[in-house]
Amino acid sequence: MRSTSDVVVIGGGIIGSAAAYFLASSPDFNGTVTVVEKDSSYQKCSTTLSAASIRQQFSTRENIEISLFGIQFLKNLDSYLDTAESLANNNQLDIGLQEKGYLLLASEAGTDVLQRNNRLQTELGADISLLPPPALKERFPWMNCEDLALGSLGNSGEGWFDAYSLLQLFKAKNKTLGVSYINDEVIGLKTERQNGSGQITDAELKSGSIISAKYFINAAGPAAASVASMAGIDLPVESRKRCVFVFNCREEITHCPLVVDISGAYFRPEGHNFICGISPQEENDPVSTDFDVDHSLFEEVLWPTLAHRVPAFESIKQVNAWAGHYAYNLLDQNVILGTAPQINNLFFANGFSGHGLQQAPAVGRALSELILYDGFRKLDLSVFNFERILQKKPVKELNVI
Ligand SMILES: Cc1cc2nc3c(=O)[nH]c(=O)nc-3n(C[C@H](O)[C@H](O)[C@H](O)COP(=O)(O)OP(=O)(O)OC[C@H]3O[C@@H](n4cnc5c(N)ncnc54)[C@H](O)[C@@H]3O)c2cc1C
Repeated sequence: MRSTSDVVVIGGGIIGSAAAYFLASSPDFNGTVTVVEKDSSYQKCSTTLSAASIRQQFSTRENIEISLFGIQFLKNLDSYLDTAESLANNNQLDIGLQEKGYLLLASEAGTDVLQRNNRLQTELGADISLLPPPALKERFPWMNCEDLALGSLGNSGEGWFDAYSLLQLFKAKNKTLGVSYINDEVIGLKTERQNGSGQITDAELKSGSIISAKYFINAAGPAAASVASMAGIDLPVESRKRCVFVFNCREEITHCPLVVDISGAYFRPEGHNFICGISPQEENDPVSTDFDVDHSLFEEVLWPTLAHRVPAFESIKQVNAWAGHYAYNLLDQNVILGTAPQINNLFFANGFSGHGLQQAPAVGRALSELILYDGFRKLDLSVFNFERILQKKPVKELNVI
């Protein structure tokens, strides 16, 4: 079976679906978009296994600007993703957005960074306040502030939502825009090379089908490096396991934001429960594709750490846990966006590490601009280009969680 599409998107998670949306909804695009997704249940993709949160509290200008657009998109979903059906039913699109903020905590050693970040965040329009320990104690009486020197709190524009619902809204909208979703796996990319520069002509699918296209987007999440290798490109993105634990606390913890402790551990409310997690040290963070939960991480690391920060967490009960994977960019844990020098029609949007869900609107829009205009229009994201990988020049984001 042979077919043709103007754009083939490899991977129909949040990044592939956002890219398809911004292309198909652009008045400057009159082609066809095909999204190839190997697991339409989405049970194992990063999008649905994430902590589904959005923050403005980054240290890099572009990451802040990306999230400012991200929250604007999430708060105005109806103006982007409504469909004839949702309009007819008078349904307001709902992803359960809880705009309850992030609270980043610092000891004395971390105050300079929080202050510097705050200046940039505020300059760019993010609504973040710095709180000294007495103010922290007053706002969050359940928190142990003894070893804290400062907290940085998002007053608005930060919080969490239901990632699966957002993905489904993108897909529903895309279908009305004529985007085709194919349940299949890309297993090969046919490449033609001439005078040192190359082009992908076809995607070969596991079913035996072949799709020819002008442009291809690698939106394969933690599997991005294997897709890149089909085109002979070495992409420094690894699949790294991250576990999320759900626990119940009998005592009431009021007005709780997503708290990032000085240890790097985070927790936030999830309905009547809480979720929490922590990234392992680099030397203890191998490539991993399994979904086995590391229960010792909760018992030995997270529980004591969280109980130190919130004494009421001494008597919590773990009620659930899951594992997902970061698409971990080995150079700088930020997205790799755009084409590699060897192949001019394969666009990458990979290596988000822990912050790709919130970046989907801005990155999806950016991908559509690269394809339509051969450059960025709304937001210049060229710092995240492929060349920095080859030149080993990291974009140093200080707030990777
Ligand atoms: C535990 C955890 C917590 C996180 N928390 C947050 C958070 O709070 N906020 C945030 O912004 N981000 C968070 N992230 C990161 C975020 O989830 C990801 O950056 C984002 O979901 C990436 O989306 P994606 O579409 O690139 O990848 P995915 O969601 O993994 O989608 C990729 C898709 O490609 C498909 N695919 C792969 N290979 C092929 C192929 N060859 N052919 C066809 N299909 C293929 C896969 O089946 C998959 O559905 C977290 C991640 C984890 C694991």
